[in-house]
Amino acid sequence: MIKKIEHIGIAVSNLENSNLLFKKLFGEPHYKLENVESEGVSTSFFMIGETKIELLEATTPNSPIAKFIEKKGEGIHHIAYAVDDLDSEINRLTTEGFEFISKQPKDGADNKRICFLHPKSTNGILVELCEEKTK
Ligand code: ZN
Repeated sequence: MIKKIEHIGIAVSNLENSNLLFKKLFGEPHYKLENVESEGVSTSFFMIGETKIELLEATTPNSPIAKFIEKKGEGIHHIAYAVDDLDSEINRLTTEGFEFISKQPKDGADNKRICFLHPKSTNGILVELCEEKTK
């Protein structure tokens, strides 16, 4: 079951500059920086009340974030939903006819197992499903 929005991912071209910008906007600095090498991204996280914002900067030219910014410019990249059981949710949504970028869950930032639905099956929005890792 999808429980809530876990975070909103925003693609930025310069993480350092954007960390300063969002610190001004929120009045609070980011609480975490993390490199996700498998995705070719550097991330930072802000907590706004109960809402988490993830900034993503590409670390390689082949990174999905580099390609996104090239095509669309900076902006909202994905919406991540928290799920209890990622594998059963992948099965449920597959049965419902959704398409995935890859059905093989992988490690995401912030201690999560993650999986992305293909935007062509979700009205153009890249949807991330994430499950808190217990181990
Ligand atoms: Zn994310």
